[in-house]
Amino acid sequence: MPATLIKNADTILTMDDTRRELNGADILLRDGVIVEIGTIDAPDAHLINARGCVVTPGLVNTHHHLYQTLTRAVPGGQDALLFGWLQTLYPIWARFGPEEMFTSAQVGLAELALSGCTMTSDHLYLFPNGSRLDDTIAAAQEVGLRFHPTRGAMSIGESDGGLPPDSLVEREAAILNDCIRVIDAHHDAGVGAMVRVGVAPCSPFSVSRDLMRDAAILARDKGVMLHTHLAENDEDIAYSLEKFGCRPGQYAEDLGWTGHDVWHAHCVKLDGQEIDLFARSGTGVAHCPCSNCRLGSGIAPVRAMRDAGVNVGLGVDGSASNDAGNLILEARQSMLLQRVARGADAMSAREALEIATRGGAQVLGRDDCGQIAVGKRADIAIWDVSGVEAAGSWDPAALLLAGPTSVRDLIVEGRAVVRDGQLVTIDLGQVVRTQNRLAAALRV
Ligand SMILES: [Zn+2]
Repeated sequence: MPATLIKNADTILTMDDTRRELNGADILLRDGVIVEIGTIDAPDAHLINARGCVVTPGLVNTHHHLYQTLTRAVPGGQDALLFGWLQTLYPIWARFGPEEMFTSAQVGLAELALSGCTMTSDHLYLFPNGSRLDDTIAAAQEVGLRFHPTRGAMSIGESDGGLPPDSLVEREAAILNDCIRVIDAHHDAGVGAMVRVGVAPCSPFSVSRDLMRDAAILARDKGVMLHTHLAENDEDIAYSLEKFGCRPGQYAEDLGWTGHDVWHAHCVKLDGQEIDLFARSGTGVAHCPCSNCRLGSGIAPVRAMRDAGVNVGLGVDGSASNDAGNLILEARQSMLLQRVARGADAMSAREALEIATRGGAQVLGRDDCGQIAVGKRADIAIWDVSGVEAAGSWDPAALLLAGPTSVRDLIVEGRAVVRDGQLVTIDLGQVVRTQNRLAAALRV
């Protein structure tokens, strides 16, 4: 692969350790790595002219359910709270199979790529009709994003007092065995890895205490990360107090679900003690502001988390509860929500972008990604600020205040994924047509 030279960027927001902002500088990428930053001549390199552009590290998405792109804006779930919303959607998801998983993942990944995302996690916790985590990994390999799929699970069905229908739950021994299978088949622990697998029971209310504990033991044995939903809303807290006799933070800690190798989605209702626990233990949070708004869950205490030293990343969450999956807009929403809660100085555009880039990389355990610095992976988003969205802006680098909501170019591991606003790795028109055909079949 030839080297790539990104030339003459108006501004480079490096998000490096000193948060340098460079004007008129160049970036040289070779073999998937950032090898030089400054004024560079490299006659043999493929040239990308970035005049009129702001260049940032690729954005990182730390929570998603890609399969849900097939159930956006389902009428019965549009205005429901979390538990009612789930009960509307479970019977539809129960009809999915491998093609639905693959196509919906490609749609979600394409949407993320166009909005600046170079690395994403996914949380797949139901496997009906022969579908497997491998279906989504195949989708990500075609689209070209760095992918952290997590093998989710549900084991407590309706007949055992759980929320999901019995047809969507699995036996716990089978869940653990399949976790081992997908880790052995796909997980890459090395620097620059394109696929890292995690273990992710869906939530404390859909699996047993034993499975939570066994999953943590398995993940540590295999050296992979742990992920689940936690403290999402008031119902969630009430359920924890009633069923487990403690708050979610305590439940997580008791079962081995804290540490640098764990990140929890939502955490809207963490109290002060739980925030201290997360900071002390290095436990990460995937903040999903649009989903929290959409489901009326509340405003996560992100300002307090960051001030306490908690690692926070951003997540668009599943497309059935957002219903969009645009990561740069998610970053804007995170900034706006903290301002609603705490005032206009609660979070700057640059801090929200930092959460969306190096923050997310840190949550996913990737110190090789999330910033533009020599030696880091070549994951880069290029934003054209010469268009109407940024016209008249006095500070185009404050991308979340005024600016484009999709990238001009996106580079992952040194390879082009988006060029001139178009996905170049897959035929997106064809994928969208397939997705709409599958969605129509599910409506019948
Ligand atoms: Zn979720």
